Amino acid sequence: MPPTASLVLGVDLDGVCADYEAAFRASVARQLDLDPAKLAPQTVHDSYSQWGLSAEAFERAHRLAVVEDRMFRHMAPLPGVSEALWRLSDRGVWIRIITHRLCVNWAHETTAADTAGWLDAHNLPYRDLCFIGDKPDVGADLYVDDAPGNVLALRATGRPAIVFDQPYNRHLPGPRAYTWDDVVAVVEAELAARERQLPLPLPEEP
Ligand SMILES: [Mg+2]
Repeated sequence: MPPTASLVLGVDLDGVCADYEAAFRASVARQLDLDPAKLAPQTVHDSYSQWGLSAEAFERAHRLAVVEDRMFRHMAPLPGVSEALWRLSDRGVWIRIITHRLCVNWAHETTAADTAGWLDAHNLPYRDLCFIGDKPDVGADLYVDDAPGNVLALRATGRPAIVFDQPYNRHLPGPRAYTWDDVVAVVEAELAARERQLPLPLPEEP
């Protein structure tokens, strides 16, 4: 653990800090010349099969959303994320952003630059920015993620994960955060539990 931090929080970006689905919906609607309202919220976390996309079509649409619409630069932050992360950071929590955004080949420069620019533009504090697919390989004391596969993989390796509520992850057991205030509450409870476990000062010599 970093020397001054009381807890390392692993924070996912898409569906947790950033409204990936709204940005992707707008881009897919543009690409396919559709009314975005026809693209319903996905209730299954896959390659957007509920929008009629195959795995290959998803990969192509995602790449165009990144390189043509620059969605990683322009997508909306989810409500309260900046304030919540600042509050936790000010309490000594080490914010480690962990994202799988380099899943698409040939768009890495745009993805990395737009991600860093977006984090600055929306004033999200962080100490590390990790682009990695296999999230349990990145150490943290507590994680917050929306993808069922990630949450299950983390928990399977004994790593506690907060589920950030989305329609496609409602089948997972908690802890669950419906808002960023909920994330803060779970992390603060964990901090309080850790403080209680600190050894008491030794008694002075009689
Ligand atoms: Mg995510």
